[in-house]
Amino acid sequence: MSLKRISRLLMASLLLISAVAFSARAQNGYSRDASQPVDDEYTKKIREYTTETFFNSPLTDYLPASPNVPTPKVVLGDVAGSPGKLPYAEDVYRYMRLLEKASPRVKVFSIGSTEEGREMIAVAIASESLLARMEENRARLTKLGDPRMINFDEAEADRLVAQSFPIYYITGTIHSVETGAPTALMELAYRLAVDESPYIKSIRDNMVTLITPVVEVDGRNRMVDVYNWHLAHPNENWPPLLYWGHYVAHDNNRDAMGLSLKLTRNIMKVYLDWKPIVLHDLHESVPYLYDNTIGDGPYNAWVDPILTDEWQMIGWKNVSEMTKFGMPGVFTHGTFDTWSPGYLMFIAATHNGISRLYETFGNAGADTLVRTLSPDEYSRTWYRQNPPLPRAKWSQRNNNNYEQTALLISLDYFNKNSKLFLKNFYLKSKRSIEKPKNEGPAAYVFPGDDPRLGNQATLLRVLQAQGCEIDRATAPFTVSVRKKKSDSGNGKPASASSPSSTAKAAPSPAAKPSDTEARTFPAGSYIVRMDQPYSRIADALLDYQYWSPKDPQQDVYDDTGWTFGELGNVQVARVTDVKVLSAAMERVNGEVRSPGAVNGSGSIYIVNHNADNNLITLRYRLRKATFEAAEEPFEVAGKKFNRGSFIIRNASADELNRVVSELGLQAVAVTQPPTVKAHAIRVPRVAILHTWLSTQDEGWWRLAFDQMQVPFDYISTQDVARDADLNRKYDVIVFGPVGRGINAIIQGLPMYGNAIPWKRTDLTPNMGGFGSTDDIRPGLGWSGIANLQNFVKRGGVFIGTMDTADLAVSTGFTPGVSIQRSQRLKAIGDVLRTKFVDSTSPIAYGYGDSLSIYCFNGPVFNISNLAGGGGGGRRRGRDTDRPTGRGTLEDPDVVQGRPPAEVPEPPPNSEVWEAASISEEQRRNLVGLIPPALRPRVVLRYADTRELLVSGLLDGGDEIAQHAAVIDSPLERGHVVLFSNNPFWRGQTAGSYFLVFNAILNFDNLNAGRKVDEK
Ligand SMILES: [Zn+2]
Repeated sequence: MSLKRISRLLMASLLLISAVAFSARAQNGYSRDASQPVDDEYTKKIREYTTETFFNSPLTDYLPASPNVPTPKVVLGDVAGSPGKLPYAEDVYRYMRLLEKASPRVKVFSIGSTEEGREMIAVAIASESLLARMEENRARLTKLGDPRMINFDEAEADRLVAQSFPIYYITGTIHSVETGAPTALMELAYRLAVDESPYIKSIRDNMVTLITPVVEVDGRNRMVDVYNWHLAHPNENWPPLLYWGHYVAHDNNRDAMGLSLKLTRNIMKVYLDWKPIVLHDLHESVPYLYDNTIGDGPYNAWVDPILTDEWQMIGWKNVSEMTKFGMPGVFTHGTFDTWSPGYLMFIAATHNGISRLYETFGNAGADTLVRTLSPDEYSRTWYRQNPPLPRAKWSQRNNNNYEQTALLISLDYFNKNSKLFLKNFYLKSKRSIEKPKNEGPAAYVFPGDDPRLGNQATLLRVLQAQGCEIDRATAPFTVSVRKKKSDSGNGKPASASSPSSTAKAAPSPAAKPSDTEARTFPAGSYIVRMDQPYSRIADALLDYQYWSPKDPQQDVYDDTGWTFGELGNVQVARVTDVKVLSAAMERVNGEVRSPGAVNGSGSIYIVNHNADNNLITLRYRLRKATFEAAEEPFEVAGKKFNRGSFIIRNASADELNRVVSELGLQAVAVTQPPTVKAHAIRVPRVAILHTWLSTQDEGWWRLAFDQMQVPFDYISTQDVARDADLNRKYDVIVFGPVGRGINAIIQGLPMYGNAIPWKRTDLTPNMGGFGSTDDIRPGLGWSGIANLQNFVKRGGVFIGTMDTADLAVSTGFTPGVSIQRSQRLKAIGDVLRTKFVDSTSPIAYGYGDSLSIYCFNGPVFNISNLAGGGGGGRRRGRDTDRPTGRGTLEDPDVVQGRPPAEVPEPPPNSEVWEAASISEEQRRNLVGLIPPALRPRVVLRYADTRELLVSGLLDGGDEIAQHAAVIDSPLERGHVVLFSNNPFWRGQTAGSYFLVFNAILNFDNLNAGRKVDEK
């Protein structure tokens, strides 16, 4: 076949395809306004950068022309999605503001700033008349969102629905390596402002499209730097995006529960203020467009079924319309499960709106590339009947076509059904308020006598930021709650009443009266009523989660448990008795704060250690004062103080008063110090250590340290490798989880090819700053291991968790500790119960008998009295089975032909979290026997199998049950503190923070209270 003939055939098929597309357009109601001129030059470029005609649709294969409104080209110098062009956030904003200037249909709002001070914006697009009526419309939407305001009057609701216009909120590029959304949204904004196609005109005239083109602004600018570096060094390997936001990377989309990041807070505030019906977040991963909204089971158990039906309606419409346009690779369902409410879009799902999410296909930059897919990506399956192509040239423009086409289809469908969705918004809000009389509970109560009022206030402030109303009891009240189990084992001091067992017990709506008992809560208790519009998010956060190991979904997408009261070490009672709603109470205006005061008189101040996180802030704020920690509980002025309580001297009374009141702490002033053994609490010098492999997980540690105002140096494994005298600078080195394993931590990246810098230059102004290197490839290395080990031997404290604990164990920092590789354990982001084994350890100060922690599959620690390991503890009863032989189960076997031999007494059993005792045989030559004072000291262990799970999915839990969770392992003059749990996770684990803070504050006295084994 001649070339000419091939090209003729191609031409014919192209014409055919565009004819099909054109008729599809008309057929589907997306016809164009024939009189509107087209921007031919721009349109030509769209077609040039689209690699196959079927990678575009009739909705976006042209650009309408406008005499006075500039196209994205004015800022980009080319069309949206053009190769080699990634705009910085500021360029995107400049364009949006040019649009605003040129068109009365566009308004730009500043919605806050990022951790690094960059602006976030939202762009509203609608007809001039709608934009002028935004405020009066907001008042109507507020009433629909809170039916209490109209006394649940259905007729009034229908009137409001008829008068109101909805807001559809689109958010782009929260994930910074997913680069396409900003240009797609620039062009979409232009189209919505100028296109006269009847369907777009109708969208503009009947609803507001709200767009935040860049959610993760700090990360976007760093990503553009990385891409520009790549363009400037075309034949070299380029840096991975090591930092996205200031703190975390991918997890910026797991913050909708804890609300720790500014981007989440800013979007949340827009959501609460503007009452959009939809929050639609744009992502990039799988080819070519996965509308993951519908996802797979299990669905989040607290959302309204009305919502899950809406997911299906909008999602399937999207797939169906794009299928008609002949665009391959558009599908829904897929692998995303909808259990966790931590995603940004879920702000809408948990607040009576509609969450939506696209994954389109991106090239992590603006290069046009041939992309070869794996069979699981291109195979046909029941939910993907027109799958992506196994191999295709793919451009950023293709990605922009898919994103915009899909969004226009969604906006059109939403617009055509807007009254339905407005009414559903009202219904979902109403059903949220009706929770007490339907599914329950009636309220969650935070008792006024919780021993940790500081952590309690922190959790209540999260709920306030979620938009929840909080009330406070003005008098004691009594309600019926489910009876406590005798062995509560629920992370609370044994002496305290145990509301979380109440919470555990209360859910059954069919609870018999005999299962319940009266409980009186004191005045000052906080009440989160469930008859409020945002009851669902409070319920989702405070309730318990159960994911059956037998669930058909075996491919879990994210964490499975998060119960906020448990992870915050805060008492929360789930109350189904509706009487709670008539208790005397008043609404809390302003943020919940724990009361701070100094009582008594004298120049010595006593502050109880209750593991409230503000205690570490107090130490660092009063740097010049002398602090001591009591090593035993004591009483002063008729008040009981826990082990670890602060005895403060040489403090300025004014300053102490101010700080105590600001932090919400209680201090008692006395003239005579208590007679109790105490040790100094200095002001430790802390370093947080990071790799150049991944900074995602340690970011949550930095965030918490910054929140609690704990100063630290931020150092890399390369700094440690170079510094043979770390003790000169630091007392404590904290190494959060890396998630890449110990080999990678030591070796770093392979040294092939070019150096890969991460630093601020003219070309990359947003990189570096708080972490820089000329070459990210070298790792910790053996010199780093040696330097770290010497740091500990000379008296430093090293804190390792998960794989960085593994690093310390595997490289000989912790004689007597070993890690057992688990075979069956499935603890996928769970809340698990732990028990304190040694409450005299400073690491346990302020805690009760047990604690709920966050665990992701361990590691599983074993303890031995012999260096190099050798047997952990043994479960009692494990050796009861007798071997095969004569007689019954209780009888001894008898060897034939000789008198029976005397069987020696078996060695005493030890617990799983303990070291086994040394056998007679081992005792003969004690090479490796660890001197008693240097043996690992277990502070915290996992609970027994039967009570291990608090929330989430747990299978094979017996593999980790009873094993040590937190270990203080001495090494010469210093200590290594090992964590099997992750104490700093997504701003959700405030109850575990003080395990680490205690280790820091008591770095030079971790042996306090230690009982040394005689043998
Ligand atoms: Zn993403």
